[in-house]
Amino acid sequence: MKKRPSIAIVGGGIAGSTTALFLAKAGAKVTLFEKAPSLVSGPPFCHLHAGGNLYPEISDEQCLTLLKQSIDFTRLYPHGVDHRPTIVALPDYCSRNTQHLMPRLEKLRARYAALVEEDAKNRVLGNPAVYFKCYEKEEIETLKNKPIKSKPQTLDEWMIPFAQKADLDKLQFPVILVQEYGLNLFRIGARLMLDLQQDPNVTLKLSTAVTNIAQESEGWSVQTDTQMETFDYLVNAAGYQTGKIDDMVGVPCERMVEFKAAYVTQWDEGVSHLWPEIIFQGERGTPRGMGQFTPYPQGHVQLHGMTKEITLYEDGLVASTPLSCQPQLPQNLVEKIEANWTWSETKQRTQKAIEHLSRFIPSFASAKTASKPLFGAQQIPGSDPTLRVAEVAFPIKRYARCEIVKVSSTIDMAHAILKDLVSLDLIESEAAEVGIEEIAIKVDEPSITKEAERLCRIREYPEALAHLCVPSS
Ligand SMILES: Cc1cc2nc3c(=O)[nH]c(=O)nc-3n(C[C@H](O)[C@H](O)[C@H](O)COP(=O)(O)OP(=O)(O)OC[C@H]3O[C@@H](n4cnc5c(N)ncnc54)[C@H](O)[C@@H]3O)c2cc1C
Repeated sequence: MKKRPSIAIVGGGIAGSTTALFLAKAGAKVTLFEKAPSLVSGPPFCHLHAGGNLYPEISDEQCLTLLKQSIDFTRLYPHGVDHRPTIVALPDYCSRNTQHLMPRLEKLRARYAALVEEDAKNRVLGNPAVYFKCYEKEEIETLKNKPIKSKPQTLDEWMIPFAQKADLDKLQFPVILVQEYGLNLFRIGARLMLDLQQDPNVTLKLSTAVTNIAQESEGWSVQTDTQMETFDYLVNAAGYQTGKIDDMVGVPCERMVEFKAAYVTQWDEGVSHLWPEIIFQGERGTPRGMGQFTPYPQGHVQLHGMTKEITLYEDGLVASTPLSCQPQLPQNLVEKIEANWTWSETKQRTQKAIEHLSRFIPSFASAKTASKPLFGAQQIPGSDPTLRVAEVAFPIKRYARCEIVKVSSTIDMAHAILKDLVSLDLIESEAAEVGIEEIAIKVDEPSITKEAERLCRIREYPEALAHLCVPSS
């Protein structure tokens, strides 16, 4: 007889929801508790990080892991991936030189080619031979007079808007164009809402906060405002509030929590969706911190600026203490997460972000604030704030603590939880072998778009953010 353990997952962000997909497929009886009214409503994500090229400071090993995890993520959530490449540009004031990035890019290209050779389904980032391309200033100058393509196909065609509008005198060369794609959190959230609502192995409890947890002889009792239920196994996927659940369960831990925000603008430039994503590298936390330009349809552009006046916040990075696993953010940041933003602060920070990016794209100075920011706090396990790859920990029996830093780590995380369930004899080993393609999307593209638009409306963001710049074919 097939084993069917009952599993409580606390938190319906990308970690908890992806875990629910995999465990339900393995035959477990999953109850997903989410205190918000919809799934994937926590901190935002817009970039796939397929190679970690935004992070010159992390190890090559982390970059190669991110590449593999991003390929898996693209296979699982194809409707939420925006297939436009990313420009990595180093401003002239950077002490680092673009050449420093080359050895790593070559390693990434070779690993991508090997993964495609291993399994053709891994070919989700385009032709491995053109995983990236370097552009000298003269080559970019020659693209200036070409017309912007309504459906860019080649890397050169993607470079045209940048060639026309970027201030090339402020950059080092070569500039790199790499197949790191965008992610659309509203579309991924929509797919998960629709799929999990109709999964017979999942009980989805939205608007339901877990208030207490107690260990039983063979499992857990989980308390909400209205009910107490018992489960064989507990998954803590509470995001930046993972420490609160650790405290309820009584396990030790060490982690940090960081609050950050990205700003949503509207630019008169009607063709923003035909731009690549652009990263202007810089030293984190200084006025010259990295600037990120992320296009969406209908003139919308999302911006990050890694300075304390834009994306980062004074006291926005906090750590757990020996007394509690839950790091304490300052009250003004908790209020932003739990209540709302004032319009004056939204406008002020968005304007700073526009200025940060228009240093390199002068005509972008005409962009305006479009909505409240995309924001939130995320956890970083351990004490290294530059860590980018982390998945899950099993500090005590029958308890998994999800610890992702980048969303692409969720599939390795779900597989590790399945393995733990097998080792506890809660599911059979054959049932635990859940391949990515086995979790096929059960809903069609128009339904995903409609649900993604609804999520934008209820969260007060422009409906344009529910759409891809490059619709999936
Ligand atoms: C500004 C910003 C930009 C980012 N950009 C990227 C990016 O481009 N790419 C990328 O890969 N990553 C990015 N990240 C990181 C990414 O957002 C996070 O790693 C990821 O969203 C975390 O997902 P999660 O499921 O672990 O947590 P969450 O999404 O926070 O989910 C946890 C859920 O648990 C629920 N919950 C908590 N406590 C309880 C309880 N007691 N009962 C019931 N429910 C509870 C919460 O309501 C929440 O929905 C970014 C982060 C920020 C802040």
